[in-house]
This record gives sequence, structure tokens and C-alpha cells, in this order.
Amino acid sequence: MTNKPANNIQDLQYFGEFGGVNPSISDSATYTFLHAKTMLDTFEGHAEGCYLYSRHTSPSNLYLSKALAAMEFTETANVAASGMGAITSVILQVCGAGDHIISARTIYGGTYAFLKNFAPKLNINTSFVDITSLEKVEAAINPSTKMIYCEAISNPLLEIANLSALSKIAKKYDILLVVDNTFSPMIISPQKLGANITIHSLTKFINGTNDTVGGVVCGSQKFIDSLRNVNDGAAMLLGPVMDSFRAASILKNLRTLHIRMKKHSENALYLARHFENDGLKVVYPGLESHKDHKLFKSMFNVEYGFGGILTIDVGNLEKANELMELMQNENLGYLAVSLGFYKTLFSAPGTSTSSEIPVEEQAAMGLSNGIIRFSIGLDNDIERTYKSMKDCMKQVGVL
Ligand SMILES: *Cc1c(COP(=O)(O)O)cnc(C)c1O
Repeated sequence: MTNKPANNIQDLQYFGEFGGVNPSISDSATYTFLHAKTMLDTFEGHAEGCYLYSRHTSPSNLYLSKALAAMEFTETANVAASGMGAITSVILQVCGAGDHIISARTIYGGTYAFLKNFAPKLNINTSFVDITSLEKVEAAINPSTKMIYCEAISNPLLEIANLSALSKIAKKYDILLVVDNTFSPMIISPQKLGANITIHSLTKFINGTNDTVGGVVCGSQKFIDSLRNVNDGAAMLLGPVMDSFRAASILKNLRTLHIRMKKHSENALYLARHFENDGLKVVYPGLESHKDHKLFKSMFNVEYGFGGILTIDVGNLEKANELMELMQNENLGYLAVSLGFYKTLFSAPGTSTSSEIPVEEQAAMGLSNGIIRFSIGLDNDIERTYKSMKDCMKQVGVL
């Protein structure tokens, strides 16, 4: 393994079943055994290279998992049908009734809703804290705490979690640091900063074509084995399994991720700088005005830049909606949730992806309803895009 995410993916060598340069897609739900004994060994998790049933693992899913583990510098990984499938499996694997979680308060809306509304039904309770305050994180730990959960770059406020410092706290109390790295694949390597488990929604940058949902858990062999255990593994028993066809298509897209991330970052930095110069309220980790700019620079893999997500606060929801509709009419992108597409996507998080968060709490965390989240696309001529976006902003009166 090298020290660089993209090199690790490049260095994987695949020989398909018939010598194909892409591995064959495993189109089977169940697998035969030549010897009955091997079936038992496989059940017990001791038969390397043998497949049992595709809810457990399949060759296509293992190829993709292996590539993602290489990218994240973990021993292994397990892909899931969606990011939420990955996140909920990890939480339910680690926590049981009576356990406690410390979570960043600004996280993906679905994760927030799961921790806030669903997990308590199982008597798993969560303290939502400002993850940028290490004192608050440590103060929230109690003897039942099992994990610190955060996003490397938070959604949608783009706060940066100090992963090295959080991992020190986690180690001190012998709890896990679980990081959702969906916004920053290749840019941030949580494992190198001390995280125990790294999760992605593959739906976003990693797949990059918005044609499927998918997720992955990257971690130690021991943890991934426990997730897949036939007797008590959350991934095995809850069954959020990815289909082999999707695993094969995501693997093909993963190979261009490094090129795409660089372009997303280059374009986002260009727009962030220009719109900030124009006097707009822009939040982007690549701007010196970002409160965690220095921290981000101490953590990132510099060649991939500061990521493709930025936000602009245009004051109120009416203006945000007007601007987004106009930008879509002008073909500058789509008014849609999600991120990591070749075209720019924009949405108002307060009324979409973070709408699970009650309005009062949104206000408390600084989530104004005039915020537009942009996932900047792969536009070849970003200057042209900037000019057209600026025209739209002038037309609706935010510039
Ligand atoms: C989209 C997203 C998820 C959920 O992933 P799905 O693939 O939609 O289930 C989790 N975390 C973050 C940061 C996301 O952006």
C-alpha cells in the first residue's frame, strides 16, 4: 500500500474470470460448494475466498470493498445498498440498549433523524454537540458512551472536525471514532488521523453519476467480520446489501474519482473566491475566511483541494428559491439534493436535506434558511459559469 489514496486504487490489479480487464459481475445469489465441510467453514467465517450467499458477500462487492479499503487505508471494507445502510449497520453493531453516542449536531439529515428519532426506540441515546468544541465533546462522555460520530466536513455548515484531537479523546475513553467522509473522499483520510471506522455514501462523489445509491463501511478486519457475522452481524442480519451490478458499475466510476475530485475542488475554489470578492456570504473550507481553514490545511491531502461543496447565504428562503429556479432555467445546474454530479446541484438545506432538524435547532446551529448549498460540477469553463451565475444573482437582486 502506498501513502496516497489514488495510487492505492491504481495499484489494484484485476484479472476477470475470462481475463477481462474488468472483473466479471457475479450474477448469483447463492454459491455451490464441492465439499460440504467448506460450507460449514464459510458459515463460521473461516473459508477464505469462498462465497456462501450474496447477502453475506459476493465477488463483485468484495472487489469494490477492497478498492474502497485501499482508498481509506483500512484493512478491509463492506459495501452497503446505501449510505444510510452503512451508517445504521455500524451504529447498531456497536451500540445496544442503554448505550450512548456523542454525535456532531450538524450532520446529514437522515443520520440525525435516525439518532434522534429511531435509535431511542432501542434505548440508544445520543448527545448532539458542537463537534468543533473539544471540551464539549469530552464533557458529554459518560460511562455508557460507545462512540463519537461525526462528518469530516459537516453537512451543510461545512464545519471541520479536528479528527486527530477527537481520536485522542476517543482513545482516552476507549470508545470509537466513527467518521462519515462522504464530502471529502481522497481529500481527507480519517484513518490516518486516528479514526476507527470511516463511512461513505457512495451515492455522492465516489460514484459521481447520480444513477444509484450506495454506501461503504471501511474498518479493521475484525470489525468488518463482526458486521458480516451470520449470527449477530448487523450488515448480515439487517440485510442492506448492494447488488453486484451496482458494485461493478461503482467500481468503474471509482477509477476516475481522483481526477473528478481535483476538478470539483478547482471549480469550487474559483467560484468561492470570486463570489466572496463580490461581497457574498460564502462558506468554503478553501477560503481564508473559513473559521477552520488552517485546521483543514493541516489535515487534507493537498493535491485534491478543498472539495466541491460551498454554501452561499442569500439572506432568506424566497431569494434562495428565486435564484435556484433562475439558475436552473439558465442551465447552470439542477435544483436537486445530493452532490458529486458532473453538473452543479443546488438546494436550500433548511427545507430539504436538513429539514429533519427542527427549525429552532436549525437557528441555534447557524443554519439560516437563506443558505444555498452548491455541489459544484465539472464545468470545463468555470469562468463562463461564474459570469452566468453572477448575472442570475444580479437579476434576483442578491448582488
Ligand atoms: C447522502 C449522505 C448520506 C446518506 O447516504 P445515502 O446513500 O443517501 O443513504 C450520509 N451522509 C452524508 C454526509 C450524505 O451526504
